Amino acid sequence: MNGGNARFSSLEVAFRTGTDRISRMENFRPLIFSETKETLAAALEAQGEKAFRAAQILDWIYKKRASSFEEMTNLPAGTRARLAEIYDFAPAELVAKSEQAGDATEKFLLRMRDGALVECVVLRAPQENAAEARSRKTVCISTQVGCAQGCRFCASGLSGWKRNLDAGEIVAQLMFVCRECADKGTRETGFTDFDNIVVMGMGEPLMNCEATMRALRIANAPWGLGVGARRITISTSGVVPKIRELADDPMQFRLAISLHGATDEVRSRIMPVNRKYPLAQLIPAAKEFSEKHGRMITLEFILIEDVNDSLEQARKLAEIARELHAHVNLIPYNAVEGLPWKRPSGNRQMQFLKVLQERRVPATLRREKGAGIDAACGQLRLRNIDKETA
Ligand code: SAH
Ligand code: SF4
Repeated sequence: MNGGNARFSSLEVAFRTGTDRISRMENFRPLIFSETKETLAAALEAQGEKAFRAAQILDWIYKKRASSFEEMTNLPAGTRARLAEIYDFAPAELVAKSEQAGDATEKFLLRMRDGALVECVVLRAPQENAAEARSRKTVCISTQVGCAQGCRFCASGLSGWKRNLDAGEIVAQLMFVCRECADKGTRETGFTDFDNIVVMGMGEPLMNCEATMRALRIANAPWGLGVGARRITISTSGVVPKIRELADDPMQFRLAISLHGATDEVRSRIMPVNRKYPLAQLIPAAKEFSEKHGRMITLEFILIEDVNDSLEQARKLAEIARELHAHVNLIPYNAVEGLPWKRPSGNRQMQFLKVLQERRVPATLRREKGAGIDAACGQLRLRNIDKETA
């Protein structure tokens, strides 16, 4: 995601040993994080175990934050041993962490068991008043290794699509962040360590819909991480049939659409998905979603100099936003090494915003602290792959 301005410390660079070469996933045991209460109960019964143990196990994982079956002391030793044979508990290791002094963004590069590199990011909103016990935390997760959508401006798509993450690997990113960034005391009380989840990391979630939705249900479930559905946002480049499916899903997750072009001409130039699902299909699908869910959707619009930052684009964007009753999130483009695109001047960004405001479109312009090289989605991974293959 377009998260902030983060870099490695030299110490962290020293232990960058990850490779992105992928071995076969079939060689690995399933992750315990893939299981829902129902599937775990069924799996236990199939092993001759008591189904009620599922609730105990999930309580250990998501409330007590156990990191092995060994810790689950109210389970018989034989059950613990059997679970450890069936499931894997250690889905990922930290390859690199990037942060910058004074920056509210921390970015983690994780290596999955097969060697695949995946990013997740934690963004801290500053405390609004001193009485607040802690800052608000948003965690941004990835759903695929690479991305097949091929948006021209995006680092995630540059080296293509490698594979989908499974539900356990998506949940594991959240668990990793819980552990890594836990505020003092939260582990004991069992509260969630973050307030919002955004599915805006590497990959297109709606091209890996089943695993993503399963992971988000686990994040949302009271026996899981208990994050309210309205605090969970799925971002998509515009996979129309899946948006329509989501519109009918009873879960109240929020939707953000990466628009980035207010006409087919501009959008198709930078987002190949628009040739398959042009605006005439995307806009009605987005409308159906927001009407069925009774919630505003967000239109994300990266501002790229001389590509989509004309005031004519701003006027067209305002029309679309008004039709959809959508909120617009303007994001100054983060430069990607090897790509020619640039962010417009601050003045141009403000002019663009003003056009929206004049038309009473609720809009925000995300203020970035700089054009950090690792800031946008997929960039941290890309840099590591480049280093390793150089
Ligand atoms: N595939 C999904 C979610 C992941 S991308 C999607 O496209 O929506 C999350 C967001 O980061 C998208 O809006 C994407 O367009 C944006 N993004 C990608 N590269 C960026 C960059 N270099 N600068 C700013 N935003 C970027
Ligand atoms: Fe994929 Fe989203 Fe990047 Fe497009 S912007 S290549 S859909 S991750």
